[in-house]
Amino acid sequence: MENENRKVLLTIRDLKQYFPVKKTKLREKQRYVRANDGISLDIYAGETLGLVGESGCGKSTLGRTLLQLYPQTEGQVIYHKGDQDIDLKSLPKEEMRVLRKDLQLIFQDPYSSLNPRMTVGQIIGEGLVSHGVFKRGDPAMRDYIFKVMENCGLDTYMFGRYPHQFSGGQRQRIGIARSLALNPAFVVCDEAVSALDVSIQSQILNLLSDLKEKQNLTYLFITHDLSVVKYISDRIGVMYLGNMVELASTEELFANTLHPYTEALLSAIPVVDENDKRERILLEGDIPSPVNPPSGCKFHTRCRYCQQKCKEVVPEWTDVGNNHYVACHFPLQHKG
Ligand code: SF4
Repeated sequence: MENENRKVLLTIRDLKQYFPVKKTKLREKQRYVRANDGISLDIYAGETLGLVGESGCGKSTLGRTLLQLYPQTEGQVIYHKGDQDIDLKSLPKEEMRVLRKDLQLIFQDPYSSLNPRMTVGQIIGEGLVSHGVFKRGDPAMRDYIFKVMENCGLDTYMFGRYPHQFSGGQRQRIGIARSLALNPAFVVCDEAVSALDVSIQSQILNLLSDLKEKQNLTYLFITHDLSVVKYISDRIGVMYLGNMVELASTEELFANTLHPYTEALLSAIPVVDENDKRERILLEGDIPSPVNPPSGCKFHTRCRYCQQKCKEVVPEWTDVGNNHYVACHFPLQHKG
């Protein structure tokens, strides 16, 4: 599938992900957490799409739903593989298992995502054997793992070592090597550098960028840190309470911010320039409950530009040109 001369890798249409809330009373009506509440977007082959928003906005759920780790409640996720358009939800389990090789996840926590009883060689090799890339004990697999380790900045003498013998940054490199050894097409990096020291974060971000070029990867980079997402992303999507509220190229989003929520997030990025007298916008109140979200625009309870219409009417997802999308009745540039 092509869109404006760019190949679309994943098409997401009206994606909803609702989780049932445990009933506390016998006759209580079943209620749902609306983790994703109707998300539509295209992810282009070869891009890094950053996804930002406060904790609990549904960004990790979206990443995992795209990988079908949570089967979606409603909507479609279409994976465009070669000339095939594959609807992931309708795929039988066995076929989905085969396809998992193409769709990988890098976890947030390098401490708990690695099996402490397995060596680095076993951790990286496990997926290769289970996907039939190599037979267990195949000497060629060892050479292949050495190559993957080198690409990920790990010395080959570490092959027989266990996760506890490594630092946080090295463990994250092992996690990256495990995912990328399978030569995936699409990788969800779920807060992949959040648990690391700032100096190590930049090393891992550089590694991810290098590997993306080398292996022709597409990333969905999930983070709550806008300075990190600005550094690595081609486009940025901003989520609030289960919905995408703004989506644009990184340059466009920073230069021409339209949504009041994005404006508040950007104002919170620390600056080193003492002449930069930007106003820091403090969002008041907590994020409302995703079980019972506010009417109209879900952000209206915290928005400093809120008007009556915002409380009653859900804003439409609108293309304002230059591949810039926003869901707001009164986008910032158009205020009177
Ligand atoms: S629709 Fe209204 S409440 Fe919602 S973000 Fe826009 S101005 Fe604020």
